Amino acid sequence: MANLDEPLYKVLGDKTAKVLSKGLGLETVGDLLHHYPRRYAHRGELTPLSGLQDGEHVTVMAEVVKVQGRPLTRSPGYVLEITVTDGTGLLKLSFFGKRGSYRPERELSPGTRGLFAGKITTYRPRGGKPQRQLAHPQYKVVAARDAEEAAQEWADEIIPIYPSTKGLDIETIGKSVGTVLDNLRLDADPMPRLTLKRHGYIGLREAYEGIHRPKSWEELRKARARLKWDEAFVLQVALAQRRMAAARLPAKPRPPVEGGLLDAFDARLPFELTPGQREVGREISEDLSLSHPMHRLLQGDVGAGKTVVALRAMLQVVDGGGQAALLAPTEVLAQQHYRSITTMLGELAQAGQIGGADNATRVALLTGSQGAKARRAALLEAASGEAGIVVGTHALLEEHVQFADLGLVVVDEQHRFGVEQRDALREKVPGGRPHVLVMTATPIPRTVAMTVFGDLETSVLGQLPAGRAEIRTHVVPPEKPAFLARAWERIKEEAAEGRQIYIVCPRIGEREGDEGDGAAAPGPAEDGDRRSPLGIMELLPRLEELLAGLRIGVLHGKLHPDEKDATMRAFARGELDVLLATTVIEVGVDVPNATVMVIMDADRFGVSQLHQLRGRVGRGTLPGLCLLVTDAEPGSPARERLDAVASTTDGFQLSRLDLEQRREGDVLGASQAGRASSLRLLTLLRDEEVIRDARDEATTLVEADPDLAGHPGLAAELATLLDEERADYLEKA
Ligand code: ADP
Ligand code: MG
Repeated sequence: MANLDEPLYKVLGDKTAKVLSKGLGLETVGDLLHHYPRRYAHRGELTPLSGLQDGEHVTVMAEVVKVQGRPLTRSPGYVLEITVTDGTGLLKLSFFGKRGSYRPERELSPGTRGLFAGKITTYRPRGGKPQRQLAHPQYKVVAARDAEEAAQEWADEIIPIYPSTKGLDIETIGKSVGTVLDNLRLDADPMPRLTLKRHGYIGLREAYEGIHRPKSWEELRKARARLKWDEAFVLQVALAQRRMAAARLPAKPRPPVEGGLLDAFDARLPFELTPGQREVGREISEDLSLSHPMHRLLQGDVGAGKTVVALRAMLQVVDGGGQAALLAPTEVLAQQHYRSITTMLGELAQAGQIGGADNATRVALLTGSQGAKARRAALLEAASGEAGIVVGTHALLEEHVQFADLGLVVVDEQHRFGVEQRDALREKVPGGRPHVLVMTATPIPRTVAMTVFGDLETSVLGQLPAGRAEIRTHVVPPEKPAFLARAWERIKEEAAEGRQIYIVCPRIGEREGDEGDGAAAPGPAEDGDRRSPLGIMELLPRLEELLAGLRIGVLHGKLHPDEKDATMRAFARGELDVLLATTVIEVGVDVPNATVMVIMDADRFGVSQLHQLRGRVGRGTLPGLCLLVTDAEPGSPARERLDAVASTTDGFQLSRLDLEQRREGDVLGASQAGRASSLRLLTLLRDEEVIRDARDEATTLVEADPDLAGHPGLAAELATLLDEERADYLEKA
């Protein structure tokens, strides 16, 4: 008998174990049992041979009628051709290899019945009629003892279809799973009995049986529900533990100080805070007053006014004698934050200068590209504590950057930072932890927030500030060329009114093979070769003609930072009419006078990215216009995506759509790519209820028993989860 940790070779023998290890990375009994069927076939689902379409992935049930081997005509080698029928039509299976070297020859004799799976191709013999075939199909022989009985059995049988790889046939996996199940020893169910009872979940052994050898769809459903729960629960226990551990670390409390900088700032704010900003501000203020570190995620759609909220938090910390660091993902953004913060603070940021307020502080900027002198000055201001606020890029994380008393770290546009980076900053506080505020404009569905960001408390900035103008979005499609001509006219009209325009391309396109800023994530994969996306350097000469007389600036990631900054400033001051750019302008850039956003080859961008780009206009009181220029045909998935973006400005709805179109692994972070995700059954979008229940139960359990002393089975599962570097992805995302 074997338990879950048992290496597979002990149960299955060396040969099979090696195949499973090499092909699928499965090493233990537990690994194999968690390799769930991708789907299940039953007779009703099988494709009749008469209805096969070229290129289709199919599973067919058929009987072998003819077996014939012959040497290949055009190359050395041998092909085994097997003809099968299901009574509705004929299909040819071909297996290539050496004569007599392979199993199909032995196993698939005439009269044998089998299940065959693969992709249908069309084979055109010289001079003959085109024929449908399956090249190297996966197959499984279905025993037919007594035809009658077998037919009945066959009709009822649920056939698991496993995800597989080349060199591994479905049979090997199915058989191995069967052997493992027959020899399985489970010491105890790791889930607390009460939890299972409360939610009506079945036992673990039953669940493994039910997912691999279901006798009915009902059994399968129950098995999936139980195993899904396990995934959600173990994950939430890990996150609950992390939350508790974080809460135990000391942080210096920074309660509000009456008559301090924050009060002075509020008094000079040119607008009223929205109720949302006030509410979130209160939450953050309370967190900062506690003696354990704040760890909060601030979510707010593009333009929701997160910066003011963050700045107010920073000022509270400065009032408490500490410093705040603001970490931005790009140079452009760091510079912009620096500018807008110094502007908003005015005399409050001019400590030591003529005209500076009495209790004023200073704001320092630290980026990788600045000159040695400016850099030294910034480092000194940070280390001496003279600068209450230090704004910067990754450069802030370097080891020699020191703070006198770092109290708060604000991370803007979180999705671009990993946790090591957040930690690098946290470590700059000896013997304690700074408070951390993470801001993101990518609205995150609640389930994802609960899971991926499960160790952060979340605040949401719901409404946009009042008086914000609307943004209209139109698709400019290939079948209506007049729309594009009209778009250029519209740009000229806006410019004539003194408004400004962004034009975005997916790449730079200076040289052959230049992939641009790497920020233009391609849309979900679509089949077919497409021309390469438009580059700004290709568009520039055309624009100079189309928009003759307008002042056009160019911005992309390959420019020298000084040049980027100069261009951005010129655009912000209204000295340029048009900014032709890559996605470097995606996040946070704020020019209220910009009213039009034209996105070329818009189908090459993801939904969230389009939404972010669109958020660059309509930031003032002027209505915004966003044009999505595309070659995508009506009805194509790409067009549907663009239509969806055009139909709503609700970022939350769009991020849901985005999530649906991406693989779960992408959501959880790049580190998951290519590796088996620990979330096999759980989907963040559809299983909100399970995740919520699991979170509640996990929190209660961890509060009562932080080290899981009373739940050894669960502790072991957790260890496995963390072992496999999954802790890494929990944080990274
Ligand atoms: P984001 O959440 O995208 O970072 P910002 O903080 O950049 O948004 O705010 C967008 C614009 O809205 C800025 O110009 C900011 O000054 C302005 N703003 C922020 N809060 C308010 C408010 N309560 N009323 C009016 N304008 C506001
Ligand atoms: Mg912002």
